[in-house]
Amino acid sequence: MIILPVIQYASHTDVGMRRAANQDALVVKLSTEFSDWGQCGHLFTVADGMGGHSVGDLASRITVESLPLAYFKQEAETVAERLQNAIVAANRAINDKARENPEFADMGTTCSSLVLTPNGAWIGHVGDSRIYRVRAGKIEQLTFDHSLQWEMVRQGKATIDNVDMLHPRNVITRCLGPDQNVEIDIEGPFHVLPGDHFVLCSDGLTGHLSDNEIGAIAGSLPPADAARLLVNLANCRGGTDNVTVVVARVEKYPRLSGEFVDLNPPATAKKRQGNRKWVSTLFLGLFLLFGSIGLVLLAFGKTQPGLLTICPALILGFMRFIIVTSGKADDFPGEQTTASQPNSPSMPALKTPYRSASANIEPAFMEFLREAQSELTQAGQDNGWMLDMDELGEINRQALLAFRHKKMEQCIRFRAQAIDELMKELYAHTRRN
Ligand code: CA
Repeated sequence: MIILPVIQYASHTDVGMRRAANQDALVVKLSTEFSDWGQCGHLFTVADGMGGHSVGDLASRITVESLPLAYFKQEAETVAERLQNAIVAANRAINDKARENPEFADMGTTCSSLVLTPNGAWIGHVGDSRIYRVRAGKIEQLTFDHSLQWEMVRQGKATIDNVDMLHPRNVITRCLGPDQNVEIDIEGPFHVLPGDHFVLCSDGLTGHLSDNEIGAIAGSLPPADAARLLVNLANCRGGTDNVTVVVARVEKYPRLSGEFVDLNPPATAKKRQGNRKWVSTLFLGLFLLFGSIGLVLLAFGKTQPGLLTICPALILGFMRFIIVTSGKADDFPGEQTTASQPNSPSMPALKTPYRSASANIEPAFMEFLREAQSELTQAGQDNGWMLDMDELGEINRQALLAFRHKKMEQCIRFRAQAIDELMKELYAHTRRN
């Protein structure tokens, strides 16, 4: 029986504080029929456009219009093939348009698509917009940034830990539009569980917020509040670029079976490792026991029983050696190496999930939100904004109380509410002209 999942989602796109126009675009298409769900699933896409003159948003607009049409209206054997074809179609649509008019020649766009299907989540990706999965206090980046910075990691000249410090920033190495052919990352299936959150965003968000902050917000607020707070914070920190966010929360999902590209080793591999450790310890104990008895017997001149005891000890020692070395070679055959694993802090992560971080709400982040609320309130008072100071004072009191009682999710909700009220006034005053 096919069961439709229950997904709660929200999206928000904003011009930012420095740009004149919003060149980002997004689209969400949920399957409402059982047959569509079974074949196609739900589609989410973020596109971050670029191009001179007045056509900066044209490529991203063409993408969000043509991609869903191509995705849902085609015959394809698999979701991966469907996604690949749809992105190829979007690329062709942009490229055709660009060749019609010389003014459109330099236009291009990133494209990050997520589809949630009965067989798990799939990703089609070009450029440096991102898709994350937030699960159980952890945020995982499922897409590889096609940027100069991340290419340094691929070439082994930088690590995933220091990649954010590299320059030049915001230079992408792949996009839709300029060429008739485009290389697309198709990845999946990723496992999906009720309680998972997926975040799609443009680099206007990731340029200002850390993975931990994005994970903490997406994981603890309802999607609409999360999307608004994410955009508000990017703008609080300068809003140097257009900002686009889609947050999808999985409420119910059909039970999945099969193999998935997941960071966490499967339970069987963990169990196998546990068993191997136990057997190895037993063999070591027996080796030492038989070995020492054999040596004592030899020391007392009892050669034959001594040798008869030492022989099994040597066999046990050899078997333990085999267990230990084979364990090192293939403890988790299906597992991917990432920077977050304790034994490989600097290894370039070249398989998805490319990076992961805690999604817990850190006290330092709550302190930042408190300061942001306080500074915005001050700015509002200095500039004559229409503020309900009683209400803001009450929200602040509730947030402090929640923080004191370590109710971080409650605290972040109060801060999100206050910052949203304050930012509405800021936008109203700074964007009036
Ligand atoms: Ca951008």
